[in-house]
Amino acid sequence: MDDPFTTEKYTAKSRQAISDKRLQGALADVQARLGPATQTMYSAQPEGAGIRQQAHEIRQRCIENLDILLEALADKVTGNGGQVFFANDAEEAVSCCLAVAKKHGVKTVVKGKSMVTEEVGLNQALEAEGVDVAETDLGEYIIQLAGEKPSHIIAPAIHKTREQVGQLFAEKLGIDYTADPAALTQAARAVLREKFLAADMGITGCNLACAQTGHITTVSNEGNIRMTSTLPRVHVAFMGMERVVATLKDHDILFRLLSSGAAAQKLGGYVSYVGGPGPEDYPDGPVAFHLIIIDNGRSRMLADPAFREMLCCIRCSACLNVCPVYGKIGGHAYGSPYSGPVGAVVTPLLAGLNRAQDLCFGETLCGACKQACPVDIDLPRMLRELRFRLAEGDETWSATPVSKPEKFAMDTFAWFTSHPAAYRAALFSASRMQALVYAKEGPIRQLPGPLAGWTRSRTLRKISSRPFRSQWKSRKQPS
Ligand code: SF4
Repeated sequence: MDDPFTTEKYTAKSRQAISDKRLQGALADVQARLGPATQTMYSAQPEGAGIRQQAHEIRQRCIENLDILLEALADKVTGNGGQVFFANDAEEAVSCCLAVAKKHGVKTVVKGKSMVTEEVGLNQALEAEGVDVAETDLGEYIIQLAGEKPSHIIAPAIHKTREQVGQLFAEKLGIDYTADPAALTQAARAVLREKFLAADMGITGCNLACAQTGHITTVSNEGNIRMTSTLPRVHVAFMGMERVVATLKDHDILFRLLSSGAAAQKLGGYVSYVGGPGPEDYPDGPVAFHLIIIDNGRSRMLADPAFREMLCCIRCSACLNVCPVYGKIGGHAYGSPYSGPVGAVVTPLLAGLNRAQDLCFGETLCGACKQACPVDIDLPRMLRELRFRLAEGDETWSATPVSKPEKFAMDTFAWFTSHPAAYRAALFSASRMQALVYAKEGPIRQLPGPLAGWTRSRTLRKISSRPFRSQWKSRKQPS
């Protein structure tokens, strides 16, 4: 399979998005609607403006006690008749789900939107085993029909026009062409309703889980996740291992912030707490509940104090809705289900620092993401840290320096700046030599060879023939 993280792909997809006027309009629209509104929602919480910092502390405590909380959650779910499986990586998570599907003779699956199942490549694995998989979130359903990837965490089909969806539905569902959103929704509803009723298994993600009660929480605005988790006889839920919180009180704060950050809502439309299967003789609902808790690189983040904070993320997408880079290049350029600032940090940590190296260099470090984050995650700090590890190389992450000449240049510069006599001598020589190359008055407009990139969009002042200290000394001091 093609690597989605090459520099060529990142550049090409970014350029393509920037030149797509319609996409630019759609991105600007979602950012204008959701970006400022989330701040208003945070301030309107009863806890007041400090709620984001409070939520951050709650999440930090959860991450520090993750082993205990996960064990407590697993005990409660098992006690309620569910099955819990801890998956080290994507392969184990997928194999577990396939084994459950085999055991129950599953031929058809309905799915609620779940980023972690995108992360582990679940749909492809199920389809390869001959299982029919239907995404049931309308946006996810559209992109599944189109054979594409989500371009926003909560609005996966934001890159598509209603006309494109109309054409897609006419082609794939055999209906008459229409670009009317209500008619298109009805068409999808009619198809999906049949799939819900026929499905052998429902697969969902998990927005949060609570160790105190032993439940997982799912939320949607379309009701599709509730149908996915209640109509089929088998329910499998996938959960990133960081999603657990200790108490219902903590859960309440985070859950309100999740709804505010994701869609500037007080609460999502359909919220379900699932703690296990129903009784065998019960006419409705699943008789089997499996919770697959996924590591897939999260333990490595936990082990690194500089990146542990990333596990506080509740995948709300608020940072996407204020990011100037995401607002221009859209989600597909990031090559991963996680886009925007959260993707620029989490994707290299999951997929490999060098492999996804462009993402952290592409962000502006403007700080808007930190301010928008409902749990106050310092994404800019981690973007800088990733750049540092990529500049220096880092054995624990198997990262090699992205540019050896650049590292050599920086190390040399560092040596000169810590040896003042050598630094002054070097500047003196450089000021003399530059006069040979740049005889003209004024700034340097083009540097030679590999340095030319620096002056492609800016000029460079010439090195003064008199050092600053000497100029300062001879300045008349005000009397
Ligand atoms: S980093 Fe913060 S704003 Fe971005 S998805 Fe995670 S929780 Fe939401």
